[in-house]
Amino acid sequence: MSSVMEGKAEALDNISDAELLGIDLENAYPVMKIEHCGQTPIKNHGKEGYYVDNTLHESDPVGDVRSLKRKHQAEQRFSPMDRFRRRHLSVTLLCEQSWCEMKVVFGLLRPLVKQKEMKKPEVKVGATIHLTRQLEIHDVVPIQVQSREDLEAIKLLNVMHMMSLLNEGQCVREFPVFGVLEGVFLMGVIDELSYNKGRELVLSELKTRKEMSLPGKAQVKGHHLQVGLYKLLFDGMVNGAVKRNDIIRHLKLQPKQVLGTGVLNHAGSMGVEEGSFGSLVDVVLKSLTSAKVSGIQHLSLEYIHQDSGVTIDTIHVECEEAVLRGELQDYFAYWTGQRGPRGVDIEDAWKCKLCPFEKSCQGGKDKTEACINVDPGKKPK
Ligand code: SF4
Repeated sequence: MSSVMEGKAEALDNISDAELLGIDLENAYPVMKIEHCGQTPIKNHGKEGYYVDNTLHESDPVGDVRSLKRKHQAEQRFSPMDRFRRRHLSVTLLCEQSWCEMKVVFGLLRPLVKQKEMKKPEVKVGATIHLTRQLEIHDVVPIQVQSREDLEAIKLLNVMHMMSLLNEGQCVREFPVFGVLEGVFLMGVIDELSYNKGRELVLSELKTRKEMSLPGKAQVKGHHLQVGLYKLLFDGMVNGAVKRNDIIRHLKLQPKQVLGTGVLNHAGSMGVEEGSFGSLVDVVLKSLTSAKVSGIQHLSLEYIHQDSGVTIDTIHVECEEAVLRGELQDYFAYWTGQRGPRGVDIEDAWKCKLCPFEKSCQGGKDKTEACINVDPGKKPK
């Protein structure tokens, strides 16, 4: 059994409600109201909205609006990547975006609602099944971290370790992937990489299901996007597309940062003697390009039933790189500030009925009403 290292979560990625609620609500969320949190209602540009700003004084409404306008104009200069303080995006987030972009934005604005969703029993059971699978072949070794560079160093050492296992023909689970696609730094974690009888490398993504049935088209779309992006990232890593500067610049890390004792000790046990983050990056990237592995040949999605553990089906996925990159460009157009966020299309209005933000989302309310008028309660296949 091999081992993987685990550090504490990246603190800077946890953005509080208070930090996020200061962003441009009117333009980014043109038909959205945020309610139930005691904000000052305002009218601006003819649209009603709600804004949290305790510095506003009810006695000077004209001054209030001017102040908001100035804030609004200042915020317009920043893209959602900047406003949400994102150095990178995750593959999981893009899959959520393929479901509903507006829901992703609401989730970032109201992390407590999102956290509640993550506590649903079926989500918890899914996470437990994934962890059990990982522990079947890897031990998890806790490592003390002292800096953001230490956290990333752990990821890199895990990649290096798992790549050596792949070189030996073994199966690995929870393989971290990263790289720049269409100008944005993306990160993800592949569930499983293993070889088939023909010695071809196969990516398997496990999906657990509460019901003994395959998911609908809308969910499948996100799953295909997920495995396709993993392939692009992994293939880029082993083919030399990931450069030292990509990691340093996009993640805003210090190459000269000396690694902490916990990380150094573990790196030493793997025969890696590098002392700084930058030199460790060089060693790991070199190990990737000199590996025997040249890329992923097959993508598969395995759907299992949560209660019984029975495999419902295993689906082979085709990946067309040009199509995938086109999709990515469209998703990134929101993050880089080229367009505003979109809600679901009218034919997907049924998603709004399942959405925890439906009450706050005017677009969702409109769609739900349209859906009721057109086709009461029908969820398309
Ligand atoms: S209510 Fe509908 S449009 Fe609004 S965030 Fe939810 S799913 Fe998206």
